[in-house]
Amino acid sequence: MKILVLNAWSSSLKYQVLDMTDQSVLIKWNVEKIWEKGSSVKNYKEALQLVIDEILRSKLSHLSSISAIGHRVVHWGEYFEDAVIIDDDVIAKIEQCSDLAPLHNPANLAWILACKELFPGVPQVAVFDTAFHQSMEPAHYLYALPYKYYEQYKIRRYGFHWASHQYVYEQLITNYQLPMTNSKVITCHVGNWVSITAIQDWKVLETSMGMTPMEGAMMGTRSGNVDPGVLMYLMNKEGLSPDQMEYILNTESGLLGVSGKSGDFRDILEGCRLQDARSKLALEMYIDSIVKYIWSYVALMNGVDAIVLTAGVMEWSAVARKLLMEKLAWLGVKLDDTQNNLDTQERVISTKDSKVMVVVIPTDEELMIAKSVVKSMGIDV
Ligand code: ADP
Repeated sequence: MKILVLNAWSSSLKYQVLDMTDQSVLIKWNVEKIWEKGSSVKNYKEALQLVIDEILRSKLSHLSSISAIGHRVVHWGEYFEDAVIIDDDVIAKIEQCSDLAPLHNPANLAWILACKELFPGVPQVAVFDTAFHQSMEPAHYLYALPYKYYEQYKIRRYGFHWASHQYVYEQLITNYQLPMTNSKVITCHVGNWVSITAIQDWKVLETSMGMTPMEGAMMGTRSGNVDPGVLMYLMNKEGLSPDQMEYILNTESGLLGVSGKSGDFRDILEGCRLQDARSKLALEMYIDSIVKYIWSYVALMNGVDAIVLTAGVMEWSAVARKLLMEKLAWLGVKLDDTQNNLDTQERVISTKDSKVMVVVIPTDEELMIAKSVVKSMGIDV
C-alpha cells in the first residue's frame, strides 16, 4: 500500500511516497519555497502538479499505485479524536478552525482541494498536528482566563508537532530500556519551530505551544512567550492591528528579531563565530528558553528519566546540544563529548553515569502521518 504524505506549511512542502508494506520511502522531496519553484506556480493546484510530475518521473511512474493521501493539518479545535478520512463535513470543520491557525489551516485546505481535483477518487486523510496532545488534562490545557472564553471560543492550549513528539517518544520506548510504568520523558523539537513536551506513561502532561504555535520557547522567527502587556503597549504605541502584531510575533521575532540578522540557526552560529554581540545574545536567549521549559517540566513530573532531542538544530548542531546540556548539569546530566560530536544519527549522548539519559533521535513526521492514514482507513498492510 503506497501512501502520499503531504507535510505542508504555508510556503514549504515536505512530501514523501511511502510503501507501508515495509515502511520504505519511495520518493522524498523537500521544497523550502514552493512558490519560487518556477514562475509557473501560481496556486496550489499548480504546485501539486509539480509533485505529480516528480512522481511520474520516479520509479512509481504512474499515479494509480497511490492508495491514499495523508495531509498534515495543523488545527482541529476540539472536533476530532484522531485522524479522519476527509469528506465535506471534515473540510467544513477544518475551515471553521482556520481562525485558530490562520497561517496554516487555509493552506492545508488548499492542498486538500487540489488533491481532490488531481487525484479524483483517492481517499484523503487529515492527520492533525494537535493529536498526541489531546491527553492533556484541563489543568494543563486551560489558560487562567475567564472560563467562559473556553466554553464560548474553545480558547485553550492545543499543542503542535504531534507527529514529531510521538515518533521520537515511540522510538525511545522501543529502543531503550525505560521503565514501562511511570517513565518520565521530555521531548524537545528544536528546528525552525520549537516545542517541548512532557510525557508521562504515553500521555502528554503538558506541551509548550499553546492555542497557536506562537506560544512557548523562542524560535527562528517567532517570539515564543512574551508578557501580554507588551503586545497591548506596542499595538497602542505603533497603532498596530491584530494582524500586524501577529505578523511581527510570527515572522520578525525570535532569533531573527534579536540578532537582526537571521532566523536560521546556522547564521546565528556564524554570527557568534564572528563575535557579533546580538547573535551571541540571541543564542543565549534561545538556549535559555529551552532550558526553562525542561526545568519546569522536570518540576511538574517530579523527575525525568530521559530527554530526547530532535529536529534540525538538535539533530545537527553539537554546539547547541552542548550549551543545552551544560545548563542541565544540576539535574545530573553528563554529556559524552565523543557521542555528541558524531554526525547525526540516533544515539545516546549522555555518559553511562549521567542521572538522566539524553538521546538524539532524528524525527520522521511523514512516517507517523502515513501510519495514521493506514490506521484510520482500517487497512491491514
Ligand atoms: P522544522 O521541522 O521545525 O521546520 P527543521 O527540522 O527543518 O525545522 O530545522 C531547521 C533548523 O535547523 C534551521 O534553523 C537550521 O538552521 C537548523 N540547522 C540545520 N542544519 C544545521 C546545522 N548543521 N547546524 C546548525 N543548525 C542547523
